[in-house]
Amino acid sequence: MPQAPAALGDLMESALGRPARVLGVHEPAPGFLELELRAAAPPGGWRPGHEIQFRVTPTLGRRYTVRTVSGPDAEHIGVLAATHAEGPGTDWIRRLRPGTGTTVLTARHRPLREHGTRRLYLGDGCALGTIDAYARAGGDPVVTVEVPPDAVAPLTDRWPRYRFLPAGQAPGDALQSWLERAAAGGERAAAGGERAAAGGELAGLDGALLLGHARSIQRQRHALVAGRILPRRAVTTKPYWATGKQGL
Ligand SMILES: Cc1cc2nc3c(=O)[nH]c(=O)nc-3n(C[C@H](O)[C@H](O)[C@H](O)COP(=O)(O)OP(=O)(O)OC[C@H]3O[C@@H](n4cnc5c(N)ncnc54)[C@H](O)[C@@H]3O)c2cc1C
Repeated sequence: MPQAPAALGDLMESALGRPARVLGVHEPAPGFLELELRAAAPPGGWRPGHEIQFRVTPTLGRRYTVRTVSGPDAEHIGVLAATHAEGPGTDWIRRLRPGTGTTVLTARHRPLREHGTRRLYLGDGCALGTIDAYARAGGDPVVTVEVPPDAVAPLTDRWPRYRFLPAGQAPGDALQSWLERAAAGGERAAAGGERAAAGGELAGLDGALLLGHARSIQRQRHALVAGRILPRRAVTTKPYWATGKQGL
């Protein structure tokens, strides 16, 4: 429901709304806000990776993802929001303060369908919270996230096992260059019987989750499939935003 008449929004809110209160807001890196909320749990309880929606105006909803679940009653949820979009959702999040009361719209958690056990996770800043929710669950994941240049150092300090790439001029370009270099390294490694640094990293993958900018995800999937790193069926994709489009 990125956009809906106010009456329909009211209906959705009464069916799916969970009363919530902001416990904390802080900035882990430039361009990111981390929210901690206490929110009544939906059927089945909160889960990392749970998709939620905030009603940011009476007629607009914006979607976000639960990164962490904590607290004695598992009703504390953490959400990592990127603030690059400059739309009404981002404005609304910027205005949140500890104590603010709100409503979180959600239903029972339906996890993304992942494949394999050694997975590649790619995304941009708005997908970092989701990627962390899934990648933390186990295995030996390869995680690469494109973020604003000044966020690279603080995010690397916080998540030393993830690779953060400074975003270039166009969304997805930095990730695409990294992926193409890594894929080419893999071919060299296979031909020469050696483990090239990047190729070695992509070797043995059996699944991927690609999130974030719609067009970039398509290019990434193409590079993975055409480069025979993964079959198409092993790649899960979910667009979070598209250039010039409001809310997805
Ligand atoms: C299932 C789902 C889960 C999501 N989870 C998260 C999450 O946990 N954290 C998070 O930060 N975001 C998340 N998003 C993305 C978030 O909903 C979008 O970025 C949203 O468009 C932001 O709303 P807005 O009102 O600020 O901008 P909009 O009004 O939607 O868009 C305004 C302009 O900004 C551009 N834009 C939108 N998003 C971005 C972006 N991320 N970077 C750069 N430009 C952008 C648009 O193309 C448009 O031109 C999720 C999206 C989906 C679909």
